[in-house]
Amino acid sequence: MDKLNMNKPGMDKLIISARINEYEMRDGNPNVPWSPGEIAADAKACREAGAAIVHFHARKPDGAPEPDPRVCGQIIRNIRDSTDILVYPTLGVLARKLPILQRLQPVLDLAASPATRPDIVPLCLSSPNWDFYDADRQALRGADHVYLNPTDELIACIETLRSTGVGLECLSWEIGATRRIAALRDAAILPDPIMLAFHLTSGGMLAGHPGTAEGVETHLDFLPDRGPYRWAVMNLHGSMLPLAEAIIRAGGHVQLGIGDYHYRELGAPTNADLVREIVRIAHACGREVATPDEARRILGFSSISTAKDPIA
Ligand code: ZN
Repeated sequence: MDKLNMNKPGMDKLIISARINEYEMRDGNPNVPWSPGEIAADAKACREAGAAIVHFHARKPDGAPEPDPRVCGQIIRNIRDSTDILVYPTLGVLARKLPILQRLQPVLDLAASPATRPDIVPLCLSSPNWDFYDADRQALRGADHVYLNPTDELIACIETLRSTGVGLECLSWEIGATRRIAALRDAAILPDPIMLAFHLTSGGMLAGHPGTAEGVETHLDFLPDRGPYRWAVMNLHGSMLPLAEAIIRAGGHVQLGIGDYHYRELGAPTNADLVREIVRIAHACGREVATPDEARRILGFSSISTAKDPIA
């Protein structure tokens, strides 16, 4: 924890991203939003609690994944009708066997109109095996799933996104992906500043660094000069709360929500409850929390957005 414990004056305000639903069902927490109306209401509540960004997956009324991009567009409209939070849909993990540019096409279609243009989309800079280990049963599941992201397709995707006004978040599941991000920056393929998320994995998911301080530090050790990076941490299938203070003190940003982990040890919290807890920890650390407009500036999106997308 020591390496992360280096609170510096003048660091950026904290950007909190609410990861509200992913493809989670409601058995572990009944507050997972599914319908466009529920997602928009949850986004508004998270914004009021202190989040600057909302990440969501479109869902059917029964919770099944909703692949129709028109529904995603409707959700973006619904969110923007009620709040200024930055919107960040998925890039289609369910379509992981398609080439990346095909996965990107629905985002490009949404980006054609300012009303539905996402503020941010994610890009995984590696090809993780989507497998889980159940230590109690000593059994693997998902052993045949790979999220395929070849580097040449990633570069084509980055270049395509540059002209759309959609911000890019680089997801790093392991140190090899962090090294790839640094190499693409060195090759002037990724422009500064780079929005970077360390994608830790817990709950038996094997592809990421574990959801521990050491899991974060291994990435940070490779980035001694963090000036170009606006780095955040998320923990798929694990709690972010034990890590939050160290990340906040080190200048990182926090991404969490009941889409990643149900937080049953807290009862049945809402996404807004979790955001409020991160705000409380940040204030106890003496760090302010960014509004969506401030997040846009910190992430270097302002020139893109104001030039191409006069969203009020
Ligand atoms: Zn997601």
